[in-house]
This record gives sequence, C-alpha cells and structure tokens, in this order.
Amino acid sequence: VIDADPALIGDLVSANHILFRHGIVDAFGHVSVRDGRRPGRFFLARNMAPALVAAGDVMAFGLDGTPEAGDERPPYLERFIHGSIYRARPDVGAVVHSHAAAVIPFGVVRRVALRPVFHMSSFLGGPVPVFEIREAAGPDNDLMVRDERLGDALAVVLGSGPAVLMRGHGATVVGADVRQAVFRAIYTSANAGLQAEAMRLGEVTFLSDEETARSAVTNAGQVERAWSLWRREAQG
Ligand code: MN
Repeated sequence: VIDADPALIGDLVSANHILFRHGIVDAFGHVSVRDGRRPGRFFLARNMAPALVAAGDVMAFGLDGTPEAGDERPPYLERFIHGSIYRARPDVGAVVHSHAAAVIPFGVVRRVALRPVFHMSSFLGGPVPVFEIREAAGPDNDLMVRDERLGDALAVVLGSGPAVLMRGHGATVVGADVRQAVFRAIYTSANAGLQAEAMRLGEVTFLSDEETARSAVTNAGQVERAWSLWRREAQG
C-alpha cells in the first residue's frame, strides 16, 4: 500500500471510471494526480484498463517516471507524459492521456485546428497545439511517448495551455486537480465531435476571444456539479 491521502486516491479511482464511462479512455489511456503533500511525486495506476482500477492498483512515481522503490508492478509505458508535464507545469495537479476517437482527426489534418465551438469547452482558450512526434523522435517512431525526452518534448508543445493533441495518437489534457482535468478531457472530446459535425454542415462561427475568456470564468466554478453527477453514474 502506498503512502497517500485516501481522498486523493479515491478521486483518482473515480476519475478512471468516469473517463471510461464517457468513452474518453477504453482499454487504453490513463489519468494521474500529483501528490499535494510531495509535489515531486505523482500517482498513476499500474498497467491496466482504467475501468478496472481500484485503490490498491495505484502506484507512486517520481517526476522522471521511476516507480517508488520496491514497487515491481508493471507501469504504463507512457507514464513519462505525466512526469514531464508535472515537472514543466507547477500549476498542473492532474493529467489525462487518452486516445479519444473524436480528437484524432484534428491531430492529423494540419489545416484545421481544434478550437472552442461551444461554451463548455471555452477553457481551451483558442487553437489547441499538435505534438508531431516525428519532430522529436524522427521517422523511426512507434508514436509512443516512451521516455523522458519525448515526455519533455510533449510538455514543450503543451506550453501553458490546457490540452495538446498528439498526431496519429490522441490527446493529453491537464487541470489544477483531477476533477478539472476530467471535466476538460470530457469537454475537449465533445468539442471535437461537435466541431467536426459543424464543419460538415458549413462555415463555423467559433467562440470569439472575448466569449472564450468570459465563458471560461463563468464555467470555472461548475466543475463540482459535473463531478458529483459523473461520480454517481460511474458507481451505478
Ligand atoms: Mn497513448
């Protein structure tokens, strides 16, 4: 059993189940949370399907992706995504990495950026950057962020924003805490589906910069309302 705040681990377990319930993760994808008491440490399940995660499956890692001493369980290959972002972004308390189908088109079509198309995704702030792994790993890559160097390259493209798309792979979304990260992951995927649908119909009116900024402020206090519903759904 790892040394951790049980409430924080409880939220992390719920996050795994909620993200599965909402189709953000399937057998693949993962969500982590930073240890609020020791910021150089984060929690992430062992290598397994998110829907099956229980508190006992959670492992502790250093920001270089090394499991805590004595924990021999197999970790996720792409745990470096999480550690590198926590190192680069002191404001980030949770990270969701997924292969959500809706976001994939926006990572592979260069001339179309994912942008806020409705108010629930105003936190995106503007066009979402795309990580091209060939720029960091060269042509001989398997698309996996499999070491610290690639994790750091991903964190650079994420910059100070809430999300980064990964060409031919998926997306990584961050938040101040695990509830906000889950909220953002769900609405990033919703935005992608709606934007693609709208673009098939015709010219799209996106949120203006002013609307995006004002809406983001309005929605910031609404995360708990969604979380309380989603957590109950995931338990049922
Ligand atoms: Mn992945």
